[in-house]
Amino acid sequence: MFRAWHNSLALKVRVSPMGALQVADVTAWDAVRVGMGFVRAEGLFGRTVFVPASSVRGVMRSFSERLLLGLGLRACDPLAPNACGMGRDAAPRRIYLESCFVCRTFGSGQLAGRVVVGDFWPWNSEAVEATQRDECATANRTERRGGIAIDRRTRAGALGHESEVEVVTRGAFYGDVILTNYQLWQPALIGLALREIEEGYLTIGGGSGRGFGRVLCRVVGATLRQSLDVRAAAGSLDGASRKIIGAGGFEADELPVPDGVTWEREPLADVARLSGKEWTRLFEALLDGPWREFVTSREKDRSNHRDTENIEIGGEEKGGGKEEGDAGVVAGAEAGVVADAGAVAVAETAAAEPVPAQDAAPVPGDH
Ligand SMILES: [Zn+2]
Repeated sequence: MFRAWHNSLALKVRVSPMGALQVADVTAWDAVRVGMGFVRAEGLFGRTVFVPASSVRGVMRSFSERLLLGLGLRACDPLAPNACGMGRDAAPRRIYLESCFVCRTFGSGQLAGRVVVGDFWPWNSEAVEATQRDECATANRTERRGGIAIDRRTRAGALGHESEVEVVTRGAFYGDVILTNYQLWQPALIGLALREIEEGYLTIGGGSGRGFGRVLCRVVGATLRQSLDVRAAAGSLDGASRKIIGAGGFEADELPVPDGVTWEREPLADVARLSGKEWTRLFEALLDGPWREFVTSREKDRSNHRDTENIEIGGEEKGGGKEEGDAGVVAGAEAGVVADAGAVAVAETAAAEPVPAQDAAPVPGDH
């Protein structure tokens, strides 16, 4: 749906053990494949434990599925035969509109995701090198934890059934979570997933039944970037809704940034750098406004999505347009403005027209 870049949000996230985090005894590649927690790899300062991106991304994705399903919103099971984009060869716009909200955010076999998560390494790249080395050494002072099976007859430890795992108990791990061309409900969703990890409901790595895997998770900084041709009120954060044909056209996908946050004009974009505290204020505002609006407006057209195999996109848009009257009108008018600005190929009559094949080639995403 997007050939043009519109906006991005980069969250710098710090994850630290609350108790013990199990180190998986597998290679990094295995860990990526099976989505396990801590593994080892060669880092800047030698061999080190780290958290592969896929572990964190997987936890965020599965949380998002459960959250949206709990709200009665569409979220597919990516492993099911009727998952979004499976066995279909539809036009790109159709693929987007038929995709559930999780796939629109994290991607599917036929749709590129909007979220990129980096690996989490045990040093803060903004610190001086000596500090980074110390931080890395701290995290790598791992411990061994024993476990033993209980003999069912004697209720004593069963000799020969002892096990031992390696755990990380110290240090902090830093990684980035980056969202591109997002609508404003999407950073709210990502923030909710990170908050759930922080509160200990989501665990990273193996052994959660033994109390392993709970982490403290903090957004320590955020960088907002948006294209110079945004249509939002001056200084506001601008979501990408108006650039997505038929995406629902939320009436105003924009939000004033918290007091004290300033935009700097750089050659290619307006940029705002937020502290962790400022991000928290922005996140709360996102929940109060765009997220609430997303949940309630989507509730209205839930019935249209009940049978995902038989969606009639044209009908959905016409129906949605009538129901959400103003939103449709605003989105249409804005689409015209955007097209004039030459930013993106958007036609006011797009709803009734087939999408040209070159509008967006399907990009393989992942789950
Ligand atoms: Zn899906």
